[in-house]
Amino acid sequence: MTSFAELNALSAQQLSNLNELGYLTMTPVQAAALPAILAGKDVRAQAKTGSGKTAAFGLGLLQRIDGGRFNTQSLVLCPTRELADQVASELRRLARAIPNIKVLTLCGGVPFGAQRDSLTHAPHIIVATPGRLLDHLKKETVSLAALQTLVLDEADRMLDMGFADAIDEVITHAPAQRQTLLFSATWPQAIAAISQRIQRSPQTIEIDAVD
Ligand code: ADP
Ligand code: MG
Repeated sequence: MTSFAELNALSAQQLSNLNELGYLTMTPVQAAALPAILAGKDVRAQAKTGSGKTAAFGLGLLQRIDGGRFNTQSLVLCPTRELADQVASELRRLARAIPNIKVLTLCGGVPFGAQRDSLTHAPHIIVATPGRLLDHLKKETVSLAALQTLVLDEADRMLDMGFADAIDEVITHAPAQRQTLLFSATWPQAIAAISQRIQRSPQTIEIDAVD
């Protein structure tokens, strides 16, 4: 399977949006992961940088978002502010196919008060670094009560940066009934362990050997 249309799941609007973005065929990780992700399964995927992992989870989480409900339905955890900004930009491009989807980034290095003010209307999608998100959860400026999809992006880098405990604590605020997607460029033992803690019968996808 190589074309997005063959997934038989994406709307005509999304297919034409992908076409406008120049996404004419699926990348290998998208072709391998999207059928399971769109079916609502947990997936853990290893694929190197630049392989199109953002759209693999982005198209999946967008498919489940109800734009008419004003609560946070998806959360993407990223290791750094720079990566969170990149993911948010890609999600906004993909979300053009769906009316009125709000994507917000919550990262350290930005005044907490300004972020709190931007949360008076809950975003549909939050892209965050684990530490700052945890601050918001503790102050109850963010609720994950309606979360459907949790994504750990660049999970290996998050563990390298010492975010394992923060991730575990974030998850205590999320519903047990959810889809959890884990993406990583490498697959050390610690990633297998976190997958075991937070995922349910995940489908494993390995696209290419580690560089
Ligand atoms: P990764 O997260 O695996 O490092 P990204 O999601 O950042 O990769 O995607 C890398 C680049 O590939 C981005 O510029 C993105 O716009 C582009 N891209 C993603 N999917 C496709 C596709 N199906 N066809 C063409 N380009 C794509
Ligand atoms: Mg990425």
